[in-house]
Amino acid sequence: MTNNRAFAELMAFQRQTEALAGVAGRLGWDQETMMPPGAAEQRGEEMAAMEGVMHARRTDPRIADWLAAADPADAAGQRAVALIARSYARTTKVPSDLAQELARVTSTAQGIWARARAEEKVADFLPTLGQVIALRRQEAECLAQGGDLYDALMDDYEPGATAEVMGAMFDRMRPRLVALRGAVLEKAPPAAIQGHFAKEAQLALSREVAGVYGYDFSRGRIDLAVHPFSSGGGNDSRITTRVVESDPFNCIYSTIHEVGHSSYELNIDQAYLMTPLGSGVSMGVHESQSRIYENQIGRGPGFTAHLYGLMAARFGDMGVGSADGFYRAINRVQPGFIRTEADEVHYNLHIMMRFDLERALVRGDLAVGDLEAAWNDRFAADFGVQVDRPAHGMLQDVHWSVGLFGYFPTYTLGNVYAGCLFQALNAAVPGVEAQLAAGDCSGAVGWLRENVQRHGGLRTPEATIAHACGFAPSEGPLLDYLEAKFGALYGL
Ligand code: ZN
Repeated sequence: MTNNRAFAELMAFQRQTEALAGVAGRLGWDQETMMPPGAAEQRGEEMAAMEGVMHARRTDPRIADWLAAADPADAAGQRAVALIARSYARTTKVPSDLAQELARVTSTAQGIWARARAEEKVADFLPTLGQVIALRRQEAECLAQGGDLYDALMDDYEPGATAEVMGAMFDRMRPRLVALRGAVLEKAPPAAIQGHFAKEAQLALSREVAGVYGYDFSRGRIDLAVHPFSSGGGNDSRITTRVVESDPFNCIYSTIHEVGHSSYELNIDQAYLMTPLGSGVSMGVHESQSRIYENQIGRGPGFTAHLYGLMAARFGDMGVGSADGFYRAINRVQPGFIRTEADEVHYNLHIMMRFDLERALVRGDLAVGDLEAAWNDRFAADFGVQVDRPAHGMLQDVHWSVGLFGYFPTYTLGNVYAGCLFQALNAAVPGVEAQLAAGDCSGAVGWLRENVQRHGGLRTPEATIAHACGFAPSEGPLLDYLEAKFGALYGL
């Protein structure tokens, strides 16, 4: 067997694995959007069976032989081999029966969480949550091999990240965020928008806004789900959104956020299709795309001026008087219970709280039965508000039910990366705000497509951002941006 032949065989095998992963992903999308509720248990079994197939492929002993012999000709091939080697090393550490049990339990746990949240019954969710944590700990022990369990889990979402580095970054960010929050909350808040925003009108507007951002409807679609998400990759990347009739920004900005995720997938170089380079490199980089679409671009003075025109045509003035009043209403800062609805000043404080709580859960320092009290105490301390019901507290996020421990910090990392990218974008594309005000997103999203999205998994997460920006990423640009934006908005 020649070295090139080993590489070719490895890549052909991987291509089928990628295809099957796409099928498994579509099952997950269906579960959240179209599946009849009575099918939940059966779907759990179907997902577990798929997981068994995927696990067998990812641990196929031929991979070790191919990896040892493969001699790729270029950087993309070398990176593909490195990513397959990484996946192989991780997957072979976890026994197949544990992987399948995790897939089965987390699939049904999601339904149990959704019911417990709807009925506000924490006790109904706790046994399942305990089971999920126990299984993820077991998995982490296999992966960490004596190292830190939380790091082993986080590595799935953000390769190379550690809790120590994340925690240190959060410690640097916190004082400036708390100071900014304190100064803003001393000022009178701007007026909120008013009106009734019919569901169909919101959905039509969201589709129009997705189009302004260049979302490719020929390879994507928008459906409704409880928790907005994006799913799939290659030439099939779909998003979901949700509608609250009193709050149109919920639907609009959920849609923009998911369009950012989905566009990243859709804009990856077609040469990487169905290879390990053909999907977003990490959740942190993914979140940088959704966040910069949503916040730095979508909540900026330029884009909101355009959005004001679109909305005023449908809903009237909304009581804000002008595009400036509308910009202020969109960027209203107030402590709220729900992370996904948090303003830019509060958002990262939500993440820091979850990071500390889930680390304690994984370490075993916090018992599942004590989680609600720990959540509520911490929320009161950080946000100055008492949680009034479980759906506003520990039952609000889907993540823990599906075993996503170590995922939350990637949200703040994404914000940090978005801060860096926005600084670089403004240097590279002069007059970007004026373009956005005219409803032209092509300068901004074109720059992101060329410098970040196109490259998929070619570089490590940090190198992906550094390559686009021309400087090593840090939290500084995000904090500078927040202080400048909200300082001006609130006259600080
Ligand atoms: Zn996101």
